[in-house]
Parts: sequence; structure tokens; C-alpha cells
Amino acid sequence: MNRAPRLEIDLDKIFHNAHALVQRLDCHGISVTGVTKATLGSPDIANVLLRAGVKSLGDSRIESIESMHDANVVSKMTLIRTPMITQAARVVKCADISFNTEIEVIRQLSVEARKAGRTHRVLLMVELGDLREGIMPDDLVQVVRETLRLPNIALDGIGTNLACRSGVSPDVNNMAKLTELAKLVEATTGQSLNMVSGGNSANLTWALGDAPTGRINNLRLGEAILLGRETLQREPIPGLHTDAITLVAEVIESKIKPTKPWGHIAQTAFGVRRTAKDRGGVLQSIVAIGRQDIDPEGLEATRGIRICSASSDHLVLESTDQKLPIGAEVTFQLNYSALLRAMTSPFVGKLHNHLGQAKSPRRGSLQAAS
Ligand SMILES: *Cc1c(COP(=O)(O)O)cnc(C)c1O
Repeated sequence: MNRAPRLEIDLDKIFHNAHALVQRLDCHGISVTGVTKATLGSPDIANVLLRAGVKSLGDSRIESIESMHDANVVSKMTLIRTPMITQAARVVKCADISFNTEIEVIRQLSVEARKAGRTHRVLLMVELGDLREGIMPDDLVQVVRETLRLPNIALDGIGTNLACRSGVSPDVNNMAKLTELAKLVEATTGQSLNMVSGGNSANLTWALGDAPTGRINNLRLGEAILLGRETLQREPIPGLHTDAITLVAEVIESKIKPTKPWGHIAQTAFGVRRTAKDRGGVLQSIVAIGRQDIDPEGLEATRGIRICSASSDHLVLESTDQKLPIGAEVTFQLNYSALLRAMTSPFVGKLHNHLGQAKSPRRGSLQAAS
């Protein structure tokens, strides 16, 4: 029996999404690094991405890269968050490339790479306005020079990350700036750059548009592959599946209840004050999942079921048409935030089909190709 709650992961749909994005970006001279962080470095999903043609795998946690390594996933591995200096030895051992923003860390990677008798490749991340990680553009050439002097370190390229902390959109201006910086580095240091990595799923609108892509020859894609959406407006990407991953939870209570709580009203378990309008009696159910496992704001239920609220272990639903039976399963769509938490919860099972064994796509689940 399939236990609940669980994520149902359709590897065929993930393959389709990854393959479609790899093909479309290839026409623009852009390779794809498949980002596995939302799956905690799942070897099954990693292998699907590789079969779909991603050039390398990227994860933000060295632990996940190590587990893919241990599961014999054969790929170039990129650590896409700047390494903790205390993890330098582990990074050098399991990651082929790491993204970096601090020369102090790169020096330590050099020390560890030398001890291990290896060359570690680094990609320098540049700040282009989103104010998360990155070297300030004016400092880039100096950091490149210092990096090039370090033994057992090779400079793979430069990159940037937008639309994560501040929602700054990748566009012709900031992408042209990255191209300009790549040219500047090459002109002033004589070092040619292998990779110029322009960003994440938020870059797709720019990359697949009409504007020239300049020197940018790589994107790192996670969400767009798993959820089939671009991430600036969260619009479905034409031709991709938006339901490759769904969440299933089980009904543990189902009653007609009033909509207005009674008694003196103070804070809820999560520190908010609720005001409820009296709408009379409704069909209220509880499914056995909560904030420990999901972000309730990031769930969408099927027609006729409304998500009302959530505490640690209870998700409260209202159904408009019928009383949900005890033990029944309710299916939800997830956004990235809900997916991340569900993947991380040990209480949520992860169930996937084997590649090529899936039923044909459910009607209406495939976004029309443009
Ligand atoms: C998470 C992450 C990505 C992937 O982002 P998606 O929006 O999932 O495509 C790419 N680059 C960096 C540095 C990241 O941290």
C-alpha cells in the first residue's frame, strides 16, 4: 500500500520537461545545469535529468552532491552555493566545480585541492542587483587575478543569480552587463572563460526570446523542470507538464461544522489573529499533513475543495459538493515553497514511477504547445 502523505513523482513528465528545455535552449547556444536541490539530490531524478541531456548537475548542498556521488550518478557536479570554508575538503572531493564569491574560501579550496592532488574548478558569481550572492562588478577583475595565482585552482567562468532575493528580472541590460564583464575579464587577464552562467529558471523568458544571448552559454534550471513554469510570473511554459509532482494526503476527520469559532479569540498556534465571518455550517475536513511538511499557501486542491488553514499537523479543508470520506486521499498541486518543504519532510513519502512506465498523460495535464 502507498502510504500517505506522499509526493507522487512522474519521471516521464520530468524527463519531458528537462528534454524540452535542453532542446530549446540549445538553439540559443545555452547548455543546462540540472539543479537537484529541491529533490535533495535524488539520484533517480538526477539520472532522469542526465538522460534528458543536461550537461551537468548542480546542488546547493555538499551533502546532496555526496549522496549522488555515493549512488554512482555519473556527472560533472557543481556546488551552486559558495562553499562553507569549513567544508572545503569535502567540496574538493565531490564537486568538480563550485560557485564562489570570497577569495578566502577559494584559498582554502586551493589548500585542500593541493592536499588531495586535484584541480578544483571555480566559477565566480557576480552581483548584478538582486543583492544575494556575488562579487561587486568593480572588484571582479581583481578577484580573477588572485584566483588565477592559486595552485590547484582553475577558473571555469563567471555567473550571476537574479530573481531570488529581490525579484530582479533578468533582462537585456543585466545580461549584457554579464557579457561585458566576461569580455573584460578575458581582455584584461588573457584567461578565456569556459562558462558564463546567466542564471536560473527566471532567465527563460529572456533566453528564449529574440534578444541575442551574448556570451551567456549556460543556465541552471530546477523549478522550471520540476514544475513546468517560468518563475517571474509563474506562467506555465508552453508544452511542459505542470503536474509532474503532486502531493497526496489522507482525510482523518470529516464533519459539518460552523464557520465561526466561539469563545474568547486570541492568537492562533502560529501567532496570528483570525477573523471569521459566519457563513453557517460547512463540510469541513482535516487531512493529516501540516506546516511541518508543507507550506499551506503553496498548495492548490482539486475542484470543489478549498484550503482554509493549517497548523503543524492539520490541514483544514472545506468541500463544496460532497463530504470527504475518512481515509480518502486528496491530491494537491504544489508550488516551489510547498515542494521544497514536502521533499524535506521525513513524514512525506516519495513515490515515483520508473521511466517509460507511465500511463499516457491525463487529459488536460499537458500544456498546449505554442
Ligand atoms: C536554486 C538555484 C538555482 C536554480 O533555481 P530555479 O529557480 O530552481 O531554477 C540556480 N542557481 C542558484 C545559484 C541557485 O541557488
